[in-house]
Amino acid sequence: MAEEVDTIVLATGYRPDLGYLGPLGDLDSQGRPRHRDGIAHAHPGLAYVGLEWQRSLSSASLRGVGRDAQRIARHLAAHLARP
Ligand SMILES: Cc1cc2nc3c(=O)[nH]c(=O)nc-3n(C[C@H](O)[C@H](O)[C@H](O)COP(=O)(O)OP(=O)(O)OC[C@H]3O[C@@H](n4cnc5c(N)ncnc54)[C@H](O)[C@@H]3O)c2cc1C
Repeated sequence: MAEEVDTIVLATGYRPDLGYLGPLGDLDSQGRPRHRDGIAHAHPGLAYVGLEWQRSLSSASLRGVGRDAQRIARHLAAHLARP
C-alpha cells in the first residue's frame, strides 16, 4: 500500500535502522542519513531527530533533542507553507 504524505519525521534515535532509504539516495556511503541539521538532503519534507551528532554532541540526548526538534518543526512548517 502506498500513501502520499507531505512530511515525515524519523525519530529513530541513536541506532537508526534506515536501510530502506538507501535506494532513495538518502544515505551516505557509511549508511548514515544524508542531512543538514536534521533535514534530508534529497527530500526537504523528510527530517530526523535524535541522530548522533545531528547538530551537536547533545543531539542524541534529552538535553539537545528538543532544540533540534524545534528547528526541524520550523523548517517543515515553512516547507508546508510553500505554494
Ligand atoms: C548506554 C546509553 C546511555 C544513555 N544515557 C543517556 C542519559 O543519561 N541521558 C540522555 O539524555 N541520553 C542518554 N542516552 C541517549 C538516549 O538514547 C537518548 O536520550 C534517548 O533514548 C533518545 O530517545 P529517542 O526516542 O530519540 O531514541 P531511541 O530511544 O533510540 O528510540 C528510537 C526508536 O526507533 C526505533 N527505530 C530505529 N529505526 C527504525 C525504523 N526504521 N522503523 C521503526 N523504528 C525504528 C529504535 O529501535 C528505537 O526503539 C544514552 C544512550 C545510551 C546508549
